[in-house]
Amino acid sequence: MGEEETRGKDGADLRGIPRVDRVLASPSLPEAKRRLGVASLTRLVRRALDEAREAVRGGAPCPTAEDVAARVAAYAEQTLRTRARRVINATGVVLHTNLGRAPLGARVAEALASSAAGYTSIEIDLATGKRGRRGAFAEDALCELSGAEAALVVNNNAAAVLLMLGALAAGRPVVVSRGELVEIGGGFRVPEVMARSGARLVEVGTTNKTRIADYTRALDAAPDAAAILRVHQGNFRQVGFVERPSLAALAALARERKVLLLEDLGGGAIVDLAPLGFSEPSVKSSIEAGSDVVCFSTDKVLGGPQGGAIVGRADLVAACRKDPLARALRLGRLPLVALEATLAAYLEGDLDVIPTLAALRAPLSAVRARAEHLQGELERRGVTSSVVELDGAVGGGACAEEPLPSCGVALEATGGLAAAIAERLRSADPPVLPRVQEGRILFDVRTLLDGEDMPLALAIERAVKG
Ligand SMILES: *Cc1c(COP(=O)(O)O)cnc(C)c1O
Repeated sequence: MGEEETRGKDGADLRGIPRVDRVLASPSLPEAKRRLGVASLTRLVRRALDEAREAVRGGAPCPTAEDVAARVAAYAEQTLRTRARRVINATGVVLHTNLGRAPLGARVAEALASSAAGYTSIEIDLATGKRGRRGAFAEDALCELSGAEAALVVNNNAAAVLLMLGALAAGRPVVVSRGELVEIGGGFRVPEVMARSGARLVEVGTTNKTRIADYTRALDAAPDAAAILRVHQGNFRQVGFVERPSLAALAALARERKVLLLEDLGGGAIVDLAPLGFSEPSVKSSIEAGSDVVCFSTDKVLGGPQGGAIVGRADLVAACRKDPLARALRLGRLPLVALEATLAAYLEGDLDVIPTLAALRAPLSAVRARAEHLQGELERRGVTSSVVELDGAVGGGACAEEPLPSCGVALEATGGLAAAIAERLRSADPPVLPRVQEGRILFDVRTLLDGEDMPLALAIERAVKG
C-alpha cells in the first residue's frame, strides 16, 4: 500500500481500516450474503469502507471489521426491505394505491401458482393446436358481464385510454367537459394523455357546469370531430352549483352528430354497487346508456390484478386491437392469468372469493364482530385495546368522500409511542400497516383478508411489548 492510501491527505492513519474480505467474513453477515449474493454484499462493504475512511480522515477512531459489518448488515436490511412483499392492510382503505390496489385472494393465488409456475396456454387453441387469441377468455367474460359486443385487455387503464384515443381519434378533435379534465395521480392527466394519443382536445363548459348545449356548440364549430369523451369523476367530488348532462343525453347527441361517445370510466364495477351505497357506475350501465367504447381499470372496484379493459362496439374494439400500440400495451401473462381467475369468479357468481368485493360487501355487523374477536384475542395476550367505529374508504380513485362505515380496534399510545409502535409494526413479518392518529393506533378490520386476524394479533402483541 502506498503512503497516499494509508495516510489521508491531512495525515489521518488509515492503516487500521479493515480489508474487504475481513468484513465479508464477519459472523454477522452470512444471512445477508445468502439473501443478496456475494457481489451485492461486496458492493455494500466497499460503500461502508469508503464511509469509514471518510470518517477517520475527519478524526473518528478507526472502526473494527465488526463495526463495519454491522453497518453493512443495516444496509443489506434496507435493501431487502425495498423488495415488494405481502403486508397486512389495517388502514381501512380497500383499494390502497401504495399497497397494490386490489388484493387478489386465495382463488387467484391458486390459479397463478398452477398456471404460471410452468408454461401457460396463453396463445394457443388447445382444441386445434393452432395459435389462439391471447386473452380470449378474459375478453369474452368481460362481454358477458358488461353486455358489450367486444373487449380488449391491456396493461392498465392509462394504456386503455391512450390506445382508445389513439386508435379512434388521432388527429381529430375530441370534445371534453372542463369539469372532467382530471388528474388521477401517478402522472395520469386527461389533457396530457390526450395530447400524446394525437387526439385534439376541445374543452367545453366550465369547471362546475357543462350543459348539453356546450357540447352541441363545440360540435358545430368542429365538423371533423371524432368523439365526445366522458371521464368519470371518481377521485374527487364536486358539490353545490354543479351540472353535467346524463350519459344517455350525451349518447343521443353523439348519435345525432355521428361522432363517437368514448368513456373513461376509471373503476370497472362489474356488479352494481349502488345497493351498497356507492356511486361508482357499473360498466354495464355505461354500455346500456349508449357509450360506444368504455375503458376501465381491472384493479379498482373490479378487484382483479393491474390491467385495463376496452369494451364496446365490435368494429371500434377491433380498430384498437389492430393499432400497433396494442402490442406495446398488452397485458402480461401473470396478470392475465389472475384476471381470468377473477372474472371466472364473477361468472360463477362467487363474489366473496374476490377480496375487494368481500370487503365492500361485508355488513357492518360482521365487521364489528371481527373487531370484537380481535380485541378479545389481544386481551388474552395482555394487550389493552378497545373496539371503535371507524370511517374506511373505497380508495383507488373511486367513491371519493363517500365514507365506508367500518370497525376496528384502537390502542392508546401517547407521546412518541404511537410512531414507535407503528414502526415496529412495519418491520414485523408480515409487516402491518395501521392508521396512526394523534395518541392512538387504529386497526380497521374491514380490509383484513381471510387468515390475517391471528398474525395481526401476534404482530400487535410483539410491537406493544417492544
Ligand atoms: C384510475 C383511473 C385511470 C388510470 O387507471 P390505471 O389503471 O391506474 O392506469 C384513468 N382514468 C380514470 C378516470 C381513473 O379513475
